[in-house]
Amino acid sequence: MSMSMSASMSTEKYVYFFAVGQAEGNAGMRELLGGKGANLAEMANLGIPVPPGFTITTEVCRYYHEHGGGYPPGLRDQVNENLRRLEQATGKGFGDPERPLLVSVRSGAAVSMPGMMDTVLNVGLTRTTLNGLIELTGNPRFAWDAYRRLVQMFGNVVLGIERERFDAVLERRKRDKGVKFDVELDAHDLRGIVEEFKQIYRECGVEFPEDPQEQLWMAIEAVFNSWNAPRAVAYREIHRITGALGTAVNVQAMVFGNLGERSATGVAFTRDPATGEKRFFGEYLPNAQGEDVVAGIRTPQPLERLREEMPEIYAELGEIFAKLERHYRDMQDVEFTIEEGKLYVLQTRTGERTAPAAIRIAVDLVDEGLITKEEALLRVKPQVLDQLLHPAFDPKERPGPVAKGIAASPGAAAGRVVFTADEAVAQAERGERVILVRKETSPDDIRGMEAAQGILTSRGGLTSHAAVVARGRGKPCIVGCEDIVIDYERKEFRVDGRVVREGDYISIDGSTGEVMLGDVPMVDSEILRVLRGELAPEESEIYRYFARFMEWADEARRLGVRANADTPQEARLARLLGAEGIGLARTEHMFFGPERLPLFQGLIISEDRAERERYLWKLAEVQKEDFKGLLREMAGLPVIIRLLDPPLHEFLPKSDEELERLAADFGIEPEKLRERVRALEEVNPMLGHRGVRLGITHPEIYAMQVEAILRAALELAEEGVEAKPEIMIPLVGDVEELKFVKREIDRVAADVLRDKKVEYKVGTMIEVPRACLVADEIAKEAEFFSFGTNDLTQMTYGFSRDDAGKFLGAYEEKGVIRESPFHTLDREGVGELMRLAVERGREARPGLSLGICGEHGGEERSVKLCHQLGLDYVSASTFRIPIARLAAAQAAVEERRAAEESRPSS
Ligand code: ADP
Ligand code: MG
Ligand code: MG
Repeated sequence: MSMSMSASMSTEKYVYFFAVGQAEGNAGMRELLGGKGANLAEMANLGIPVPPGFTITTEVCRYYHEHGGGYPPGLRDQVNENLRRLEQATGKGFGDPERPLLVSVRSGAAVSMPGMMDTVLNVGLTRTTLNGLIELTGNPRFAWDAYRRLVQMFGNVVLGIERERFDAVLERRKRDKGVKFDVELDAHDLRGIVEEFKQIYRECGVEFPEDPQEQLWMAIEAVFNSWNAPRAVAYREIHRITGALGTAVNVQAMVFGNLGERSATGVAFTRDPATGEKRFFGEYLPNAQGEDVVAGIRTPQPLERLREEMPEIYAELGEIFAKLERHYRDMQDVEFTIEEGKLYVLQTRTGERTAPAAIRIAVDLVDEGLITKEEALLRVKPQVLDQLLHPAFDPKERPGPVAKGIAASPGAAAGRVVFTADEAVAQAERGERVILVRKETSPDDIRGMEAAQGILTSRGGLTSHAAVVARGRGKPCIVGCEDIVIDYERKEFRVDGRVVREGDYISIDGSTGEVMLGDVPMVDSEILRVLRGELAPEESEIYRYFARFMEWADEARRLGVRANADTPQEARLARLLGAEGIGLARTEHMFFGPERLPLFQGLIISEDRAERERYLWKLAEVQKEDFKGLLREMAGLPVIIRLLDPPLHEFLPKSDEELERLAADFGIEPEKLRERVRALEEVNPMLGHRGVRLGITHPEIYAMQVEAILRAALELAEEGVEAKPEIMIPLVGDVEELKFVKREIDRVAADVLRDKKVEYKVGTMIEVPRACLVADEIAKEAEFFSFGTNDLTQMTYGFSRDDAGKFLGAYEEKGVIRESPFHTLDREGVGELMRLAVERGREARPGLSLGICGEHGGEERSVKLCHQLGLDYVSASTFRIPIARLAAAQAAVEERRAAEESRPSS
């Protein structure tokens, strides 16, 4: 922020030095230094003990790729100059045989993305400097371990030699020696391993570079090249990451967590990322380096242990966490290393968290005076809120656990055991619930993790890949469950003397770490139980946080939030979750079920007028009761009831067998019925005989529905219940359609109500593009508009929603569209039509009520677009109501902030 690109160009500064108390960069320079580099500089400025180093800017990366792999003039000099500064700061020399300086080479773009080069540690170590390191530390085992790691990482990361080849050697050596962990190998073993590693190099036609400068530059170049690794390119394309291009390279003096028992490496969160509780949360591994903690090599120890083992370090860490939180004003995820009793911090960034933790942390930070309520609202991603409403295991049905691991991401999950990500995806596509069981996970498993209900690993700790990914996605997860012994080959795991095979059901509780056999039934979430009065608010901490947070959201938002609900039960739940009315009650569901369907089928099939009247009357009676239920639950609030929408053939049987049975039930000729069904068949039903078109061809159906609605309201009024029905006509494209149906409604109303007064409105869905264009005409007849964005999207793009699955995936993959318009509203097309309709509609009728009732009403960006378009409300499916409330609040806050920013400051 403080330094513009052009300024840095003119001074041609490509390398930024950092050391405690004297960094050339800061946290505002993400674009130039990458996230990692900018935060290292910031921490150095704050006086936090980071090992010194320097950052090569993202600009160099861009230059490198624009010039076919060349460096800008002066870069080598600047790197060498900074290397000298680093030597001074550490009192060591790069390549110095007596006091060798070792460095790590770490990639880091402005936005973190997969596919970037993994960090290489111990760069600068050669057969020559190795001896210096042994002299210096008096610890040959340590030095050989560091060298072993370098040869392994350099081979894999820089030269692209398969990781498995190195792993296989390590595994065999450990097996031969009869030991379980790397730390049990001694200097002699490690020396042998290095020899074997170098043999692998030779088999690949390369040599390990025994020159520190060569190692450094090869690693730097590999970082730049990783910017164009296929995985990174694909990621940027899919996420349309266009600004902030290029990765920076961080070269940093090594500190060693593998120098012995007074050394360690660890990862910590400044608060509990699962619950949000204000306590340090993390883990560490004594005598370990770099990624040992997250890779799940050995199961690490909880941070509390450090309080006993190294109390001064624990206290210092606490001070640093507090400082970082005050400074960044958010929960941080911190990497640290202890070298012979001295603490170093290697990274800080905003920590990933679960939905309950996100809410709790945001609320607590407000109470601690670190952020405002508005900031708190922006801190929680709306789409995570439905996690809070997910079910938990039924305590009455819950069996005892067969194993216990580390509770890494809360929530209950049950499903069939699968051992590979591919199998998880395949089974999930078939509609199975699965639990992905692995020793540990890697980025290749992400799709499988997403497809699974939950994840169980036998290795790794709270900061392992599995744990971090699961928390980010709200998936229940248990890690480090050493009680289970997985056999990938046989597709089974052993636990507690039993064998669990692929396809068997297990249940995992990510809040306690318990693994249970079988498909354990679930009960509703704590928040829901409080809302329904089944649990006292005092007994649920998460409820109290949720309630406060949502209250702030409601204070901030302008947009109303209603529910899409078809039954009284749904309506009640919707109201408890904050719905301010019903934006869409679909009536077609009311024609299904063993008692109703025959009535409706009779209405469609029979040709006798009197008989049809009888069916209509019966239907009117059951519909009236349905509407009474809905209106009663929403007493005092508006309830939009949509008249029949789907084509009639959806109510008739498809198979011959069913058809014959139906004909027999009604006592008519099967052939006659078949003819009737054939007559109703359509080539293109979604553009066919449905919606208002049925209201015109079969006016008696709409008349029956309207009568049921008005009678329901009338009867409720007599009971003293304030019913506010709003009658909605679907699929109108021409104002004459609406006029026709309205005449019918008026006739029925006159008939039903006579002199009695019932408050009701008549409005229309706006879901045909033509309706948007003639919205002024339509608004003269309609008291409200409700955008049916599912159909509007379908018809605007001409994408059949039922068939789009066949090609939209490819569109997304190939970057033709960024995201399915059925998922998030298409701002430029559909949104533009909506804007026109809003403008023309309001002009013709100033008090026109405007809302949306498509699936988009529960999706963050769509809700924000609706706010910007000036709608009155969005209507969302029940569980997405909190999402809509928060997204609406964020839209209002963002709008206020943008207005403040654009106001000229005097
Ligand atoms: P990632 O982005 O994958 O976390 P990092 O660059 O943070 O990659 O490094 C991977 C691991 O190596 C981390 O555990 C980190 O703390 C450790 N590490 C990086 N640089 C150093 C260093 N100079 N000294 C000791 N450990 C380091
Ligand atoms: Mg990594
Ligand atoms: Mg890191």
